[in-house]
Amino acid sequence: MRTLSGLATARGLVSGPVFVYRDGGEIPIPEYKVPPGMEQSEIVRFKRAHLDTKRDLENLVSVLKERAGRQDVMVFECHLMILEDVILMDETEKHIIEDRLNAEAAVRKTADIARAKFERMNDPYFRERVRDLDDVERRLLKALTGFGYDPLKGLDAPAIIVADDLTPSETVQLPREFVLGFATDGGSTTSHVALLARAMGIPAVTGLGNVTEYVKPGERVLLDGTAGTVTIDPDEKTVKEFNALLKQQKAASEFALSGSPAGTLKDGGEILIYANIHPGLPIEGLKEHGARGVGLYRSEYLWLNLGTEPSEEEQFLAYSQAAKVSSSLSPVSTITIRVLDIGGDKVVRGISQKESNPFLGNRSIRYLLSSPETFRTQLRAILRASVYGRVRIMYPMVSCVEELLAAEKILNEVKSDLDAKNIPYDRDVAVGAMIEVPAAAVNADSLARHLDFFSIGTNDLVQYTMAADRGNDSVAYLYQPTNPAVIKLMRMAIEAAKRNSIEVSVCGESAADPVVGVLWGAMGVDQLSMSATYIPVMANLFSRLTRKDLDEYLKLVEDMCNTATGQEILDACTAWMAQKIPEFSEIAM
Ligand code: PEP
Ligand code: MG
Repeated sequence: MRTLSGLATARGLVSGPVFVYRDGGEIPIPEYKVPPGMEQSEIVRFKRAHLDTKRDLENLVSVLKERAGRQDVMVFECHLMILEDVILMDETEKHIIEDRLNAEAAVRKTADIARAKFERMNDPYFRERVRDLDDVERRLLKALTGFGYDPLKGLDAPAIIVADDLTPSETVQLPREFVLGFATDGGSTTSHVALLARAMGIPAVTGLGNVTEYVKPGERVLLDGTAGTVTIDPDEKTVKEFNALLKQQKAASEFALSGSPAGTLKDGGEILIYANIHPGLPIEGLKEHGARGVGLYRSEYLWLNLGTEPSEEEQFLAYSQAAKVSSSLSPVSTITIRVLDIGGDKVVRGISQKESNPFLGNRSIRYLLSSPETFRTQLRAILRASVYGRVRIMYPMVSCVEELLAAEKILNEVKSDLDAKNIPYDRDVAVGAMIEVPAAAVNADSLARHLDFFSIGTNDLVQYTMAADRGNDSVAYLYQPTNPAVIKLMRMAIEAAKRNSIEVSVCGESAADPVVGVLWGAMGVDQLSMSATYIPVMANLFSRLTRKDLDEYLKLVEDMCNTATGQEILDACTAWMAQKIPEFSEIAM
């Protein structure tokens, strides 16, 4: 037996046979000098392969348009753009004519030069583009050599997909009905596989290092996406323990909302539970998971998926579609569209600047205020979409009142412009801000006077409060949502919202943490927003608690806040839950 540990990327347990996804390795390519006078026929050969590749990609785009999301399609539209890049085509022809390289070698040389350029830039966005370029090169070389390897051959029954890493285009082409789980050597918790897995409720462990070396195709493994482990060749005792956990998971997931909308307390009180979504994620499952609205729409994924700034029409289409889906969720549904939260680790070519400290740099609302045309275009698209549902606009990373005033001025100009052109929009569109910078929590009263709601982004609030990078494993011990400093800032923001009679919600990952999310509910937030697949668990927990229970829970925490550590508070909360709800450990899986 061997247990490998990686990143707990998407919760859940699954056991099943392994399908090892391999891209077929290097395509063997011939290399020779084209005889003098034969250059033009070699160029014709290249152009024919180019045309075949283009047709294949166009077919794929039209098939995916039927079954996948717009962003999935965009992956291949981006490949088409790379394929049709005039410079890449001209360069290849130049290598055929000037260096007399055969078409395969010329394609490889062109791709190598472009790859080297991208890699030198040492920028996460370009590293991703290198993978797209690899994809396109591979398709061209396949067309030229007739290399017929099909990486999905044999995947005709449900299996755990084991791979070194999966590109967006590989992920999109997997037959979803056969995917039980994901285990990858590389990848992060925010990769395409990770987002897809979480949205679809498929357990996933990434960053395993070398799982592809240890597993054999067809071998059964145990995958625990909650703990971040994969066990190969498990002994009897481990299988037994795993099966017991599986049984608990089944009981937890079979929990029905017993007819009550998500977030209803035992005594009828309510904390609305909404979903976090972003362009490119399948949104069919929102209703089934009990989402009553969309608490966070991360618009920056339009930029990230396209690799450039989307047009107003592209944005309008995406926002209006999401608004329509959201309004079908419940009578109390709203959709909170967060304007471009770019910067930090969200890098877009041609837009993001190189900064020595990007997490503290020109990001999010700061970037938008320094690029007013981008801001205006986005606000226009959101306002135009506001006739399709109850749309709210949210500003990310707000640090001070001046930013709100500047944003308000631009928003009013955009509204006047729409008025002048008789373009309809919701005149009562609510405007809010993320509270994710400690200064915003401390100054929440001043901010609240200019806003209709707050949404607390605990992912960043914890990072900035504790000065601990949210993605850095070596400082993960400092990343404590229950640290008293974080709890005190949460209290400041929530109390300021109440004093100023505006709504307050939490949309950071901690909203979906069974112990911490309930604490935010106890502190008085009106709404919690999370990945849809985590909603049933949180709804289940709230349905077993009364407001009086929540008050007792809150008192326990408040009493500890001036003396205890974050870990002690977490332990006390967990113990309280276990004593209050005997099935807590099963539900909270
Ligand atoms: C947050 O910071 O909590 C948040 C929801 O925003 P993001 O994770 O997109 O930074
Ligand atoms: Mg944030």
